[in-house]
Amino acid sequence: MNFSTEHWKCIEGGADVLTQNALRILKRRPEYKKRVTEIRMRRRLRIPRIPIPGGGGQAKSENNKFPPSSEPSGGPSGGTFGGPSGGPSGGPSGGPSGGPSSGPTGGPAGGSSSEPPDNSQDLPIRRRRPPYIVDEVMEVTVAGENAPRSYDMVICTPTLACVQRMNLDNAYLNWGQKTAIRALVYTPSMKVAIKFSRPWWITDCGITSGGLGSTDEPLRVCVYPSYNLHDGEDKPAVLLCSYTWTQDSLRTGALVRRESPKGEEELLELMLKGLARLHGEKLSYEELKDLYVTHHSYDWYKDPNTAGAVAGFRPGQFSQLYPFLTRPAAGGLLSFAGEAISSHHGWILGAMDSAWRSVYQFLYRYNMRDKIIELVEKFGIPPEIEISENGTEHLQIFLGSRAGVKEVPLEGEEEVPA
Ligand SMILES: Cc1cc2nc3c(=O)[nH]c(=O)nc-3n(C[C@H](O)[C@H](O)[C@H](O)COP(=O)(O)OP(=O)(O)OC[C@H]3O[C@@H](n4cnc5c(N)ncnc54)[C@H](O)[C@@H]3O)c2cc1C
Repeated sequence: MNFSTEHWKCIEGGADVLTQNALRILKRRPEYKKRVTEIRMRRRLRIPRIPIPGGGGQAKSENNKFPPSSEPSGGPSGGTFGGPSGGPSGGPSGGPSGGPSSGPTGGPAGGSSSEPPDNSQDLPIRRRRPPYIVDEVMEVTVAGENAPRSYDMVICTPTLACVQRMNLDNAYLNWGQKTAIRALVYTPSMKVAIKFSRPWWITDCGITSGGLGSTDEPLRVCVYPSYNLHDGEDKPAVLLCSYTWTQDSLRTGALVRRESPKGEEELLELMLKGLARLHGEKLSYEELKDLYVTHHSYDWYKDPNTAGAVAGFRPGQFSQLYPFLTRPAAGGLLSFAGEAISSHHGWILGAMDSAWRSVYQFLYRYNMRDKIIELVEKFGIPPEIEISENGTEHLQIFLGSRAGVKEVPLEGEEEVPA
C-alpha cells in the first residue's frame, strides 16, 4: 500500500486479510500469547583497558573513575566514546544527514560495537580523560520468563490502557507520555451478531443489500451484510444486529458476558425485541425467537488485550498529548506505536502510519540512510509524518533522544579490552 497516494482503502475481508498478508512477508513470525510486564532502560559504564608503553600488557587507567559531570551530555549515546558530539543534525530531506549519536570518533552508534579511539600514541594517559563506553540497552520482561530480554530499541504497540499495566518506572517517559497513558480516553464499542435459520431481513423485509438501520432502541445500529446475499432463502445467515459506541456501548455492554452467549438471556431478549420494532413488527419477537440459532457478543472494554476500542481524544487532549506520544522516550530507545499514536486514530491506517514513524525514528537514530530510502521507496511517506527539513520529525527525535537519559543511573564499571 502506498500511504501517500492511496490514503484510504476498503479492504474486503477486514483486518484478517491485512494480518494474513503481513504474516506472509514477515521473516520472523510474531510470538503470540506473550504479555510484556515491564520495559526498562539500562546504562552501563564500560572502561576500555589502556595499554601502557613499555609497561607490558594492559593496565587500567588511574583516571577511570568519572564524576557524574563527565558523562556524555549530548544526544543519544548508545555506545559513545568520551561523549557524543551532538544529537540529530540536519533533517533527512532525502534521508538523514548525520543522524543522532555518532560519537566524536564517528563510529557507529548503538551498543558496544563501536571502535574506541586509538589514543595509545599520545600518553601519558593520566593527563587525558580516558575513553569510555556507555552501553544503553532496553530490557523487556515477559510474564512467565525468568530473565528479561535485551534489545537495542523497543517499539511498544499495545493500547495505552494495556501499557498502563506495565512497569515503566525505568523507561524514562516524558510528562506527556505519562499523562497520556493515564488520561487518554478510549472509546467503548461492542457488537452483537445473531445467527438466524434464514435471512428474514431479505425475504420478509426486502433489505437486499448491505447497509445500516438506526433506532433509538438499545441496539442502536443494525448492520446488514453486503456478502452472502445469495446463499439461499432457507439457509442460515448472520446479522450484526447491534453495533454501538460510547455510552450506548457501555449500557448494553453491561449485559455482555465473557462466556457469550451463555448467561446473556436478557441481552438476547433486548436485541430480538429491538429488531422486531426496528422492522415495523414485520416479524414479531416470538417469530424472531423461533428463527434464532445462536449469537455472540463482544465488548472491547471487557477485552484484557485492549481495555477499550479505540483512542477517542477529548477536547484539548490531542493538542496536549499527541506531540509527546509521537516523541521517543528512554533517550530515543523506546517508541510508541498503534492507532492512538496517529492523527488517524481509530483506524487501521493510523496504526500503520505510527508503525512507519517508529521504524523511521529507529533508522534515523542509527543513521541508517539506505534503509530510510528503502522505507520511503516501499511505502511512501505517510502525509501525517513530516520528515522534511521544515517538518517536525527530526526535532521530535532530537528532543526524545535527549530527554530522560541523564536521569538513568550509570550502573557499575566494567573493564573491556581497548
Ligand atoms: C469495533 C471496532 C471496529 C473497527 N472498525 C474499523 C474499520 O472498519 N476500519 C479501520 O480502519 N479500523 C477499524 N477499527 C480500528 C482498528 O481495529 C484499530 O485501529 C487497529 O486494530 C489498531 O491496531 P493497533 O496495532 O494499534 O492495536 P491492536 O490491534 O489493539 O494491537 C495491540 C496488540 O497488543 C497486544 N497486547 C496488549 N497488551 C499486551 C502486553 N502487555 N504485552 C504484549 N502484547 C500486548 C494485544 O493483544 C494486541 O494484539 C475498529 C476497531 C473496533 C474496536
